[in-house]
Amino acid sequence: MDRADGLAHYRKRFAGAETDLVYFDGNSLGRPPRSAIDRMAGFLHDDWGGRLIRGWDEAWMQLPFEIGDRIGRAVIEAKAGQTVIGDSTTVLIYKLARAAVDAQLARDPARREIIVDRDNFPTDRYVLEGIARERDMRLRWIDVDTASGVTPEQLAQAAGPETALVVLSHVAYRSAYLADAPELTRIAHDAGALVLWDLCHSAGSVPVRADHWEFDLAVGCTYKYLNGGPGSPAFAYVRDDLQGLLAQPIQGWMGTADVFGMGPEYTPARGIRRFISGTPPIVGMLPMEDTLAMIEEAGMPAIRAKSVALTSFAITVADEWLGPLGVTLASPIDPEERGGHVTLNHFAMREVTARLWQRDVIPDYRDPGGLRIGLSPLSTSFEEVHRGLAATRDILREVLTERAGLA
Ligand SMILES: *Cc1c(COP(=O)(O)O)cnc(C)c1O
Repeated sequence: MDRADGLAHYRKRFAGAETDLVYFDGNSLGRPPRSAIDRMAGFLHDDWGGRLIRGWDEAWMQLPFEIGDRIGRAVIEAKAGQTVIGDSTTVLIYKLARAAVDAQLARDPARREIIVDRDNFPTDRYVLEGIARERDMRLRWIDVDTASGVTPEQLAQAAGPETALVVLSHVAYRSAYLADAPELTRIAHDAGALVLWDLCHSAGSVPVRADHWEFDLAVGCTYKYLNGGPGSPAFAYVRDDLQGLLAQPIQGWMGTADVFGMGPEYTPARGIRRFISGTPPIVGMLPMEDTLAMIEEAGMPAIRAKSVALTSFAITVADEWLGPLGVTLASPIDPEERGGHVTLNHFAMREVTARLWQRDVIPDYRDPGGLRIGLSPLSTSFEEVHRGLAATRDILREVLTERAGLA
């Protein structure tokens, strides 16, 4: 399968991929692109070291917008001027969600509900809890199966004349359930609500068509499938015709119409600039450019095809080797409904994960009993999946034998 894989050669372009370590966590922290090492060194020597503060005028001031547009073009199908690199995912979710509910409340004070599902990523739920408290709003929870995600039927039931905002993950962090984003967006719009999409687990792995699917707002991580490095800043998408209607709550000098005017009061910039707040985190934006270059070259359709092949292969092997040991699949079996990772459930997985880490096989563990295997289309090989699952089988057997011996 590796020989037949048209994207196999990208693996060599990631630092560390030459070792025997099995990496199943690229959906949590992607591997570093090898070319980012030289880019970072060059930046320190020449750009920061040589240009010093002149670097801001010469390049850095524009970088959040340039990289934003590049993500728009290569990753989420958004035309220019709608995507920007900003703060962390958490902070951007806060800024966009607060801006959205404020605009909705101003238009119609009856819209006091924010819809979110109980299995959405913790930061999304916590941020919304805080916004509901600040604005005296209610959260309306959708209960979901942790092996699946929010369906159109569930959203149609929940959304109505009191809904201000709907916040959903495109790919569920636990199950990898791939939400029907265009249909869910349409349902929310029919109810008069705005939608904020969390693209953390889809950006760079699953095609997103922000403009075509008529997204309002979206936020995505850059340190997962975009390999931006630990804590690299997130991106925000705001549809162009909404930008002028939204006021984000962290009013900083970098988001003003005249940044160096240093005027007496805050006047937001027109366009996407108004969604940034302070000095952009330039150093954190460098490595993702190397990944974006690879994505531009490979194209999202080929990346998605490889992703589906990797997850399908992992499911087939897990079924054969781990099924007899009592392991069950906690991700959708239909690849059309599945993002880039696979979760395998067994009561012993916490212990299995700890032992795998000791043997240089690095998956993630998510309660209840989930071994989460993240497969990065550009850096994961089929051989790596095979080896990692063989180790999982051997260690699970070992743990079960020890427990049987104790009993
Ligand atoms: C990884 C992830 C985040 C992370 O937010 P940070 O502010 O970068 O810590 C948020 N939402 C989802 C769905 C994620 O997967």
